[in-house]
Amino acid sequence: MHRGPVAEIDLAALQHNLQIMRSMAGKRDVIGVVKADAYGHGSVEVARRLVAAGAAGLAVAYTDEAKLLREGGITVPILVFVDQENPDDYFRYDLVPVLRDRRTVQVFSDEARKRGMRTPVHMKIDTGMGRIGFRPEQTVEAALEIAGMEGLRLEGLMSHFSEADLGDGTYARQQLRIFSDLRDAIQLRTGLRLRCHIANSAAVLSLPDALFDAVRPGIALYGCSPFVESFGLRPVLSLRSEVLAVRNLPAATAVSYGRTFVTKRDSRIAVIPVGYADGYNRLFSNNAEMLLKGCRVPVVGRVCMDMTMLDVTDVPNVSEGDEVMILGRQGEELITAAELAGRINTIPYEILTSLGTPARKAYFN
Ligand SMILES: *Cc1c(COP(=O)(O)O)cnc(C)c1O
Repeated sequence: MHRGPVAEIDLAALQHNLQIMRSMAGKRDVIGVVKADAYGHGSVEVARRLVAAGAAGLAVAYTDEAKLLREGGITVPILVFVDQENPDDYFRYDLVPVLRDRRTVQVFSDEARKRGMRTPVHMKIDTGMGRIGFRPEQTVEAALEIAGMEGLRLEGLMSHFSEADLGDGTYARQQLRIFSDLRDAIQLRTGLRLRCHIANSAAVLSLPDALFDAVRPGIALYGCSPFVESFGLRPVLSLRSEVLAVRNLPAATAVSYGRTFVTKRDSRIAVIPVGYADGYNRLFSNNAEMLLKGCRVPVVGRVCMDMTMLDVTDVPNVSEGDEVMILGRQGEELITAAELAGRINTIPYEILTSLGTPARKAYFN
């Protein structure tokens, strides 16, 4: 028996979601964000489908992630958000670095000159995220410097929103204004026409002024809307397991570590071979549901490392081997990443990466 649940990845839903992003983006390029194993969905298969369906480029956080895509036959431009430890990888795998400070500018320029090459680079501006990137007041000067450097070809300008998913867009519009002003100043001073991009999924769906030359959606491709409105996005990942054992327990029997659940009646308890080692958060203890025979059934007692218990007393004829959906649809019922996230005070991103990455994958169209 293999450890953990199976992640079923609906590539048709992925393509449908990309289509929604492309229609929002108009003529602009869509750069599909496939960092963290495509948010737990499996980066190579996801990237192949995104590219086949019209994504102009891809983005990852680390060069190792990009290397995997190249080895998987992906040839579109790949932007690498974070990793600058391995400048040689950028040349070996034809990747586009995101320059974020003076030191890394020098590192890439040196590496390019050493190889007698000129490499395209994008520059990251910190317009209000407070994470990485050139501060606005340093940006124009740094851009002029990069534009004049041997080995580097300043191709793009990017930034990232801190809260484009809020109803109140005041701060996002402030970031947008800073970005737009710096873009104008840099293009004027350098005479370059730069590819500018700032829009994450939330901005694609809500800030038409933020689209510029390309957009960088992630979570929307995987079917989660950052807003209450769904925009027609369809979930891509489902997580399936099966009943390992069914136990008949009399009333007043404690279930799992710490006796946090005690049966109130004669009960049937199903044991599922999925636990926190598979990314099923321990905070789901007595605090989530799974789907079994088309019914919602509650998680009872503490989630263990490899097992979780469900109270199936009200579901007739449950037996070993029955399909259990942890995430996704069964019959009329649907458990979304947003539902699970809401139960443990986190976001769908964390649910998808924690549960998707360790799971075995099954892809279908
Ligand atoms: C993760 C990420 C994105 C995608 O954000 P979503 O909210 O998933 O659409 C875009 N840009 C950068 C820099 C990111 O790190």
